[in-house]
Amino acid sequence: MKLLKKGSKRLGFVPTMGALHEGHLSLLRAAKRRSLVTICSIFVNPTQFNDPKDFEKYPITTEQDLAKLRAMGCDLVFLPSVKEIYPAGTTNKKPIDFGFLATTLEGEHRPGHFDGMAQVVERLLRITEPDYLFMGLKDYQQQLIVAQLISYRNMGVKLVSLPTLREKDGLAMSSRNVRLGKDARRKAVSLHKELNYVAAQISTLKIQNLEAVSQKPEAKSLADMIGKYTSTSKVRLVKKGFEVEYLEVRNAKTLSVLTNIREKMVVLVAAKIDGVRLIDNVVVGK
Ligand code: AMP
Repeated sequence: MKLLKKGSKRLGFVPTMGALHEGHLSLLRAAKRRSLVTICSIFVNPTQFNDPKDFEKYPITTEQDLAKLRAMGCDLVFLPSVKEIYPAGTTNKKPIDFGFLATTLEGEHRPGHFDGMAQVVERLLRITEPDYLFMGLKDYQQQLIVAQLISYRNMGVKLVSLPTLREKDGLAMSSRNVRLGKDARRKAVSLHKELNYVAAQISTLKIQNLEAVSQKPEAKSLADMIGKYTSTSKVRLVKKGFEVEYLEVRNAKTLSVLTNIREKMVVLVAAKIDGVRLIDNVVVGK
């Protein structure tokens, strides 16, 4: 890295856990479009798995990954060992307190996940020293926390967050999708459909301007109205066989609970089907 820096090359870094798909490759392509030297890391980080079974079952396809990276012209691949990333062991002595951002939604349902994620991202950034870090909005909460991490640690890297790539039917691409059986794969598209349903209902409320509506005595609160849509979606998902962990509409910047119809909003979901945990989100009005 130092030699590249001396040659004043600018580096674009894409951290991944492997089992690469087009979503991952889209991040590398974005880095290439900016004429950056591209680095991709593949490291299945043990400290961010709150469920040991999820860690054991995480797909590992290194040979295929390397072929994909070679074919798309990725310049450098970093395949570290656990020892290299955690020379002093995996215990996180001083986790950063990200506050509410890391304790809600994914943080609530996957205790310790964001501590492990922030730990590995910081370590990878210190080793690779990139100018740009590319991450996917698919992991919406993760990229908000990484932005905080960069700011807290005063790191001179610019975070670029890029849109979620989807399969033709709308399912967000994910390394975990290969674990879905045929029936579950067919049903999995409902997650995106329900996110779009909730987002469309809220867009309508925004157009009507709920505050004008709220002047009427029979009008319900914002939370009640939005809750009606998320409940409808949850019921439909449960009927299809999903175990829904959350389906919520939050402030798009802070993930805090909404207080005003004019806030920028994001709809986020986490649900299990066929024992596979999937997450997805859509920003309202996009
Ligand atoms: P992962 O290998 O799942 O840790 O993901 C590595 C990076 O790829 C993260 O920044 C993810 O947000 C991003 N990513 C994963 N899936 C997608 C997708 N479908 N579209 C765009 N980026 C993605």
